[in-house]
Amino acid sequence: MNISSLDYSSLRSLLIAKEISCQEVTRFYLDKIEQNRQLNAFISVFADKALERAREIDYKLAQGTAGSLAGLVLGIKDLLVMQNARTTCGSKILENFIPPFQATVLNKLQAEDAIFIGKTNLDEFGMGSSNENSYYKPVKNPHDTTRVPGGSSGGSAAAVAGSLCTAALGTDTGGSIRQPASFCGVVGLKPTYGRVSRFGMVAYASSLDQIGPLAKSVADAALLLRFMAGFDELDSTSASVPVADYSVMNGSVKGLRVGIPKEYFISGLEPDVNSAIENTIQLLKDSGAEICEVSLPHTEYAIATYYIIATAEASANLARFDGVRYGYRDEHASNLEEMYINSRTNGFGEEVKRRIMLGTYVLSSGYYDAYYRKAQKVRTLIKKDFEEAFKTVHCILTPTSPTTAFRLNEKVADPLTMYLSDVFTVSLNLAGLPGISLPCGKDKQGLPIGVQLIGKAFDEQMILRFAGFIEKNNPILNNRQVSV
Ligand code: GLN
Repeated sequence: MNISSLDYSSLRSLLIAKEISCQEVTRFYLDKIEQNRQLNAFISVFADKALERAREIDYKLAQGTAGSLAGLVLGIKDLLVMQNARTTCGSKILENFIPPFQATVLNKLQAEDAIFIGKTNLDEFGMGSSNENSYYKPVKNPHDTTRVPGGSSGGSAAAVAGSLCTAALGTDTGGSIRQPASFCGVVGLKPTYGRVSRFGMVAYASSLDQIGPLAKSVADAALLLRFMAGFDELDSTSASVPVADYSVMNGSVKGLRVGIPKEYFISGLEPDVNSAIENTIQLLKDSGAEICEVSLPHTEYAIATYYIIATAEASANLARFDGVRYGYRDEHASNLEEMYINSRTNGFGEEVKRRIMLGTYVLSSGYYDAYYRKAQKVRTLIKKDFEEAFKTVHCILTPTSPTTAFRLNEKVADPLTMYLSDVFTVSLNLAGLPGISLPCGKDKQGLPIGVQLIGKAFDEQMILRFAGFIEKNNPILNNRQVSV
């Protein structure tokens, strides 16, 4: 049986019918991980633990007591803390950090019998768009191993695309779930800010961060969200808003209005990406959706605003890694100050240090008003643009990224070009809105192209409905998975 081609929804029917066991499924993925070491998608793999869990869940399945995610084999971005398992955040500074507690989302998914197979590679602390900023070496794109998988959840996206697990968790501060999903040809969902508890996610920029699923199908992303979402008293920013059964997706888009923001069709958009998006718009139009042009006039300031706010928050959040409380410590320093300096200088990578410096600068006295306060004001304007647009449309459709997966090393020397990779994804985080990326075509080289759907706050159901429809009706989408 070719497990590679199955999403969880199909796998589950086989598990229930006892045509396959959780142990077989887990072994299949463990073998795949072994065969695809060169992708570097995982930082840690829990072979024995995962097989032991699979055995327990097979027993539960036989008893009829298994949870709703029984046998769903999950990769976990190594930015989420897992009890008694090394959590590196892709950094040398946390190379040997073993957390004494566990993220709320992991507890929730474990309670439904998901199996954790390992921790996936990422850009250090989530900072990057290509997964080249990992201390544990870059991840490769399974569609073309000379190319990046996107970032920062590059390991999660590559693991799902390469069928090294059924689905994976990512985090998204400015696009880190959606952009790698787009580059790797999988589905990636960033929930509304507050929808999913951030407890146990190592903070990058706390007002922007969210955890979400990467999956082989829209149905799987919806199912995972259902069990991840909800208020958590351990995260004061988590919202007490009812969680729907997202897996129930109404099939039709007839009569629904889709907004196309004119500011997103910029000159840097690759022609193949543009035509895949045009085809998707046409599909929706032919299916009875109403296509309306909308304007998000402050889009051009989104990247600048994001990189001021995100770095400012990061500079504060990363202050805790000082070689004293936990993490890497330089043992050769002759005094305390030198110890702090050396630990941080040697423990953090170049991009993280660049961000800490930028963030410290924009918060410093004399520059606070000119940069940070101004960025906060523009953030409000960006949010208002969306509120205005959503007065007339049910969802907004854009490309996820202006390009398909670029080559390894192509952009490392030029951080600004790298930052532009996020031009279509960061606005949502600034506005706190939900967004999903799903495959909508391929470019001439056969690389996946993603379309992004943006919803109103807490209206994940609407974007899932559109995504489900596109997935089902787009003729180019059959055989989305790659076999590596
Ligand atoms: N690429 C963006 C950054 O480097 C987004 C990262 C993310 O969403 N974690 O900040």
